Amino acid sequence: MTEKTQYLIDKLHTTHRLELSEYECLIERMDAASRACAAEKAVAVRKEIYGTDVFVRGLIEFTNYCKNDCLYCGIRRSNQSADRYRLTPEEVFSCCREGYRLGFRTFVLQGGEDPYFTDERLVPLVRHIRTSFPDCAITLSLGERTRESYQALFSAGADRYLLRHETADPAHYAKLHPAALSWQHRMDCLQELKSIGYQTGCGFMVGSPYQTSHDLAEDLLFVQEFQPAMCGIGPFIPHKDTPFADRPAGTLEMTLFLLSLLRLIKPDLLLPSTTALGTIHPLGRECGIEAGANVVMPNLSPAGVRDKYLLYDNKICTEEESAQCVACLNLRMERIGYRIVNSRGDPPDADRLKTCFDTD
Ligand code: SAH
Repeated sequence: MTEKTQYLIDKLHTTHRLELSEYECLIERMDAASRACAAEKAVAVRKEIYGTDVFVRGLIEFTNYCKNDCLYCGIRRSNQSADRYRLTPEEVFSCCREGYRLGFRTFVLQGGEDPYFTDERLVPLVRHIRTSFPDCAITLSLGERTRESYQALFSAGADRYLLRHETADPAHYAKLHPAALSWQHRMDCLQELKSIGYQTGCGFMVGSPYQTSHDLAEDLLFVQEFQPAMCGIGPFIPHKDTPFADRPAGTLEMTLFLLSLLRLIKPDLLLPSTTALGTIHPLGRECGIEAGANVVMPNLSPAGVRDKYLLYDNKICTEEESAQCVACLNLRMERIGYRIVNSRGDPPDADRLKTCFDTD
């Protein structure tokens, strides 16, 4: 690790911000020593706020129909081999019931952009979950919708929305998406979600095709400026039926390093150690937590559809039942000295944050 790297990690640790060129420098010079240094600081910062608690979100992948054609994604419209399914509102609701029984207090409803799920269909479902489980958070991850739709779903009781920005660089965005999708529109959606009052999550893939250090630096700078409540990152992993089938996957090392930097950028950030990370390495999710992540998102989808929500190849946990996923993750977290807590897992309020850092 060079002196410059050490200086930049220290600066990020104390000020929570860097310039674009400084992020780029850190990314270009990443090595084992700089990873260890960033991880040690990230873990210390997280410990101040969250101790050894790991939040858990129950992920319900309720439709793999998608009208979009993102070049990297296995459920893209032009993938004729994808076996399409959608859960009924009743099935989604029974996943929540099962999840509640298993201790989950956050449900994440994720899907492709499925035109079947109009507001007329989704709003009653969200309202039903909200009234049935008043102590739970409802997170939506349904892609780009109108402001009116985001507002209607928020009013129905959704608290959080995950919309990865995918890449903060417009030219890079254009290489990953068909012309019909616009970087600007995605960014506008994120601003709208935040202004409506959602706890908003952005995020990006690590090692996606054509990605440069400069692009990743822009992603970090975007997080620094946007100040999301959450940020989902994971390695890009190729899917055999996409145009990027032969591209290499993102690396464990770079993903872990970026998790640590994100923790230093925003100490209270909700930062998942993702399934994609667990897919590229058997202990990927544990490594993610040890790099500074504080959320895991086990799958709550019904066993019959799990092997159909395939965004990338070799996805883990497609054979298990929800209860098995919970037990497995509990054990994995315990083995590394952390514990899964059954709460909504909100970020601490401003007062509590202040007391954490009063000693600084
Ligand atoms: N349709 C929703 C949910 C997308 S799926 C939306 O538009 O937000 C959730 C995330 O999976 C995506 O945002 C993307 O970052 C990630 N993803 C898709 N394909 C992937 C791949 N091949 N490798 C790794 N991550 C992928």
